[in-house]
Amino acid sequence: MIVAVTMNPSVDISYPLNRFKFDDVNRVESVSKTAGGKGLNVARVIAQMKEDVICTGVVGGTIGDYIVQQLDGRHIRNDFLRIESESRNCIAILHEGMQTEILESGPTLSEQEGIAFLEKFEGLITSASLVTISGSLPKGLPTHYYCKMIEISHKKGKRVIVDSSGESLKQVLMHEKKPFAIKPNTAEFSQLMGFEVEAEIIDLKRTLSHKIFEGIEWIVVSMGSKGAFVKHGTDYYQVTIPEIDVVNPVGSGDATVAGFSVALNRNQNVATVLKTAMTTGMLNTMEAGTGYINKNKFKQYFDFVKVEKID
Ligand code: ATP
Repeated sequence: MIVAVTMNPSVDISYPLNRFKFDDVNRVESVSKTAGGKGLNVARVIAQMKEDVICTGVVGGTIGDYIVQQLDGRHIRNDFLRIESESRNCIAILHEGMQTEILESGPTLSEQEGIAFLEKFEGLITSASLVTISGSLPKGLPTHYYCKMIEISHKKGKRVIVDSSGESLKQVLMHEKKPFAIKPNTAEFSQLMGFEVEAEIIDLKRTLSHKIFEGIEWIVVSMGSKGAFVKHGTDYYQVTIPEIDVVNPVGSGDATVAGFSVALNRNQNVATVLKTAMTTGMLNTMEAGTGYINKNKFKQYFDFVKVEKID
């Protein structure tokens, strides 16, 4: 079983409008409300890949209830810590070919809630084979909170994949107990290094050999339509993908983490792990919904992904 963690889930509301009127009333005909958050997208794709998954994290209030109902409705197992404050709404207004977003920052957790979640997490991962941690931390938790989750996972002998950014990712890399894998995209990778990382193989290889990555088994730098550049142990790989018709690329990094986790969980070889990760990422971009893939297309696109070892 894979445990997929989302510490700051949301209800994602999308309002399509022909024209967005400022300082006026905007009436919306068709509203879509879905349970959102990076780890929830990861879990949805894992479930579509027919691998056993459970979602966890923290939820509160009626928005929290809605998130749970949505997951239950899709038969995705979940076990969240209930917190005092309300989970957040994230609103996307789709207008004139643009997307204006209004993102609530979400609840502030108390210290006790932070401790209570770590206890729940420890219990949940006992029967897990793999853990994914995705997205940002809610307010109230220290930036090294993911390090505590990694420590617990080490104690229990579980592999952890971290897909986060900013300070929480930096803390994870600086901690003595390392995650099993990280999946930054190029922007997150550049932000982490403090300089614009070039997409040239020689630069990527040099950057990934930096000592902050020592002890991490897998570093998958996802590069959108350019595929990925990967460090596995002491080996480096360039992964290229075919040109495809993109409908909605949002969440493709989450779908990549999902495919990666599924293949690792099935003990597949390096090439299959990377090809699966790229394929689920691509399939997500080909659907309108975030965290959805058409599994019928899997084999066709998987065969187009090329994994090349770099000397
Ligand atoms: P997000 O933050 O939206 O979840 P990300 O920025 O973390 O995404 P990307 O590097 O953009 O992740 O994409 C992850 C993977 O999804 C890519 O490595 C690739 O397999 C696939 N992908 C993303 N965008 C495209 C695209 N335009 N064409 C083909 N494949 C894509």
